Amino acid sequence: MLAREGIAPVEVAHVEGDEPPCPACGTAAPLVDGACSDCGLQLG
Ligand SMILES: [Zn+2]
Repeated sequence: MLAREGIAPVEVAHVEGDEPPCPACGTAAPLVDGACSDCGLQLG
């Protein structure tokens, strides 16, 4: 249990960024005016 608690937060913090991946193209780059910077899908 102790080992799991030590690993989980690190993986979550690494995967979860400021922006979630775009559901259309998978780009995890910051949004531009609330839209995906790659395909332009509105996410915000
Ligand atoms: Zn996109």
